[in-house]
Amino acid sequence: MTEMFQQARQLQDQLVSWRRDLHQIPETGLVLPQTSAYVQKVLAELGLTWQEYPGHSGMTVRIGGGPGKTVALRADMDGLKIEEDTGLPYASHNGNMHACGHDSHTAMLLGAAKLLKEHEAELKGTVKLIFQPAEEGPGGAEPMVKDGVMEDVDAIFAQHIGNLFSGAGERTVDVTWAESTAADDQVIIHITGLGGHGANPHKCVDPVVIAAQIIQNLQYIVSRETDPYDSVVITIASVEAGRGTFNVIPEDATLKGTIRNASPRTRDRVLDRIRQIAQQTAAMMQASCTVDFVDGYPALVNDRAMVESFLRTARAALGEEQVNILPHGMTGGEDAAFFFREKPGCFFVLVSSAPCPLDGEVYGAHHPRFCLDESVFWKGAGLMAQCAANWLAEQAR
Ligand SMILES: [Zn+2]
Ligand SMILES: [Zn+2]
Repeated sequence: MTEMFQQARQLQDQLVSWRRDLHQIPETGLVLPQTSAYVQKVLAELGLTWQEYPGHSGMTVRIGGGPGKTVALRADMDGLKIEEDTGLPYASHNGNMHACGHDSHTAMLLGAAKLLKEHEAELKGTVKLIFQPAEEGPGGAEPMVKDGVMEDVDAIFAQHIGNLFSGAGERTVDVTWAESTAADDQVIIHITGLGGHGANPHKCVDPVVIAAQIIQNLQYIVSRETDPYDSVVITIASVEAGRGTFNVIPEDATLKGTIRNASPRTRDRVLDRIRQIAQQTAAMMQASCTVDFVDGYPALVNDRAMVESFLRTARAALGEEQVNILPHGMTGGEDAAFFFREKPGCFFVLVSSAPCPLDGEVYGAHHPRFCLDESVFWKGAGLMAQCAANWLAEQAR
């Protein structure tokens, strides 16, 4: 049944217009009043009803409902606190920007909804659409899991648009067999020494020098203790100490950074070693040190059987050469990981990028000049709908 995928072609103009409307009203965080109202308006036009949840703008929609399993399709709806600088006629002017393409994810899931609604009678089960807020933070998937949205779901598909792996024109979709996006955790290391006159370091315990040692020593975890084929990133992105003077050794120093891990087992080891190395380096220099982690998103790991189902659908729809299996995932984080921790799923990347009209350069996600090639939207909508319908049919056999 590649019929749905072919019908998606007819939706192309509609998808672009939904996306451009959403692009002009980017909102951030858990509560997205304008965006969710827009999505609800379109859902109502499509003859669909939705369920809302307290405390955030997430929604779910059920299509089908006969005997059989339930497969979820997920889109994120939020933008970023970035001032758009694309020069596009439909650029946003409200201080936020859809700089990660979530406007297109939402538009494509609406397109998939339209296709699935038209084929509702043929579905061998139920498709549950998940529209989530706050992917860019503080996280919308975990609250929706707590709301129970995954309890009646058996499997999940999610897509992300962009040029994360392949460039425009190379392939249509990228997918991995297992690890897809990394766990991202934040670390805060606070070093307490003994301040004093910069001319008398021997009467002080200098937290600035100790901070420098800790930063260096942490790199040892990646370079000497981690399998080169297992990806780990330790980035200390902020160093705070002193008050801008030339001659005062400060009392304390604070380091902040991000830790990315592709595998959950490696993550536990890396976080343990960061704590040990920071505290023992500080102790060696007669300072004290606290290490705190702020849990971020877990790693998103694809399920092999779900990837096989995705590959059958994508290859039939797009052709073998348009589907790229990646040797590894990416070090970016993805909130959908919370859904994927609950039920088996397949996360794939719809390849798209376009030069910014202001300078002709291609920019990546989260850049104020990030632009998309809109011509792929119908493929993304078609794939989402087709993957869900095919997976249900495969389960019913
Ligand atoms: Zn993003
Ligand atoms: Zn994103």
